[in-house]
Amino acid sequence: MSELVEQFKARIAPRLAHVRERIASAATRGGRSPEAITLVAVSKGHPAEAVVAAYQLGVRDFGENRVEEAEPKMARVEELLGEAARRDPPRWHLIGHIQSRKAARAIGPYVLIHSVDRLKIARRLNRFAQDARRVQPILLEVNVSGEETKFGFSPTEVVNAVGEIATLEYLRIQGLMTMAPLVQDPEKVRPVFAALRSLRDRLALLYPELQWYHLSMGMTNDFEVAIEEGATIVRIGTAIFGPRTQEE
Ligand SMILES: *Cc1c(COP(=O)(O)O)cnc(C)c1O
Repeated sequence: MSELVEQFKARIAPRLAHVRERIASAATRGGRSPEAITLVAVSKGHPAEAVVAAYQLGVRDFGENRVEEAEPKMARVEELLGEAARRDPPRWHLIGHIQSRKAARAIGPYVLIHSVDRLKIARRLNRFAQDARRVQPILLEVNVSGEETKFGFSPTEVVNAVGEIATLEYLRIQGLMTMAPLVQDPEKVRPVFAALRSLRDRLALLYPELQWYHLSMGMTNDFEVAIEEGATIVRIGTAIFGPRTQEE
């Protein structure tokens, strides 16, 4: 078991160091402090031992995109970490599309849900959060590029949706999230990130009583450009853990 963790650590350590350097340089280029950017290590498709290895290398934020994959993994990570899990717990982020019938399972374990992508799921999450007597921090996912295969509010839709979501007492909006199209040259998606930032700035003017701090944008392929355009959270899987071994 711990031998497996050690193997993952040897593999992940240089990758993680490189990612951290690239985050720091991109932050500096964008005129920001590297500490202002939260690295969420996307552990979907990787086992609990890989998460524990990253944890031991200093990572605390982890991203999963499906509740059914995350649940047994979170339990196993807690078991493997033992006392450390209570002293300095990993923070789990839910970053994938949530099916309506799984909404209840999205409430409780996650410090932040990045993927609130439609009104209906916002209403359901609010109801389950109320039942659990919790206030759930969320981001609104916006489909900036308009790709049909992508989830998320359209930029025009989200402006109106906020009016209702703001009234849901058990959800707390903290900003926006987007996924850029997969392209060879990340410069091509710079306008997508810039558009999410200006949308955020517009929402902050329209709804100044809400919090609009976070921009969750940037993945393995494009995180440096996303940081230059104002990302506060980057979600990085492959560059840290390598190619995914399990089915997504
Ligand atoms: C898988 C995934 C990521 C990470 O992707 P990589 O290209 O492996 O860095 C980020 N965000 C979301 C929503 C994902 O599903």
